[in-house]
Amino acid sequence: MSEQAQPLNANFKPRIFSGIQPSGGLTLGNYLGALKRFAQKQDEGIETIYCLVDLHAITVWQEPEALRRNTREAAAAFIASGVDPKRSILFNQSQVSAHAELAWAFNCVARLGWMNRMTQFKDKAGKNAEKASLGLYAYPALMAADILLYHATMVPVGEDQKQHVELTRDIAAKFNHDYKTEFFPAPEPLIEGAATRVMSLRDGTKKMSKSDPSDASRINLTDDADTIAKKIRKAVTDPEPLPSEIDGLKDRAEARNLVNIYAALADMTPTQVLGEYGGEGFGKFKPALAELAVAKLAPISDEMTRLMNDPSEIDNILGDGANRADEIAQPILGKTLEIMGMIRSR
Ligand code: ATP
Ligand code: MG
Repeated sequence: MSEQAQPLNANFKPRIFSGIQPSGGLTLGNYLGALKRFAQKQDEGIETIYCLVDLHAITVWQEPEALRRNTREAAAAFIASGVDPKRSILFNQSQVSAHAELAWAFNCVARLGWMNRMTQFKDKAGKNAEKASLGLYAYPALMAADILLYHATMVPVGEDQKQHVELTRDIAAKFNHDYKTEFFPAPEPLIEGAATRVMSLRDGTKKMSKSDPSDASRINLTDDADTIAKKIRKAVTDPEPLPSEIDGLKDRAEARNLVNIYAALADMTPTQVLGEYGGEGFGKFKPALAELAVAKLAPISDEMTRLMNDPSEIDNILGDGANRADEIAQPILGKTLEIMGMIRSR
């Protein structure tokens, strides 16, 4: 925890919040960077709140039926990855209206200059930013609201979300400063493990994303064994054998990516992986990685299929989670608006 956050956060109960957009099928990147760690966090004695951020998903076009299906499928992926809806609060964002309300308040705290520096907007809006939705631009204020609505102190995310959590801290700090209060904590991004940024299998400079147009760029949690093996076999790599030391991966983004994926799946360090495979070519390493990936992902995908056979069970879980989230969120939203000078008389 950073020095300046420590005294402030000491006044808050440790609480974890994180979310995933139901903007498509989930990937190996989402699993290693987020889901797997979300499940592990339940064993650390800290309250865990996990959210399917459907309001974020609609910042780019979503077919309504696909959004509904993706939301249920993402919920199934959480549960199949070990997130227990009894030990954690698991819900979809749009069922707790306080997210949108606090986001509006934060739209009035965050500065345009801050938004202009956000790399995700630039990446997703592309060259035609004039045609991007206003929601895509305002996305970071909604994300700050998601986190601060629960006074969360820790946010497990992949490396790509670091800038957003930093902006959340800026919004909290400006709110506290402007209203002369210490109402919001300064949430810490938790970016841990061997695969905090899983890269595309087609391009080692781009992160693996569920919204990438190329299906070959990613491994989906629902891919079958043959598809996983084929995608790994076709993953772009260089012709050199794997090095024995981590330093040897410095300028080899694609090789480093596959080693990191192996390490994260096997709960090893990249150094241990190189200890085993250093000197070997990809002809040997790729099949070993494919076998490991299938062994780890097949049970998750089977469980997702089982859960998706009964969407009403998933909907009940999300409804119950939303009720529990709402109980925490409403008083914090109410107090925020009161601090800002709004009358709360009902
Ligand atoms: P989209 O392309 O729609 O933004 P995404 O794959 O980036 O989808 P998000 O819903 O934006 O997924 O992110 C959910 C979580 O997964 C975040 O914590 C994010 O940091 C993590 N994550 C996403 N992609 C990766 C990746 N390639 N490696 C590690 N973590 C990732
Ligand atoms: Mg993303």
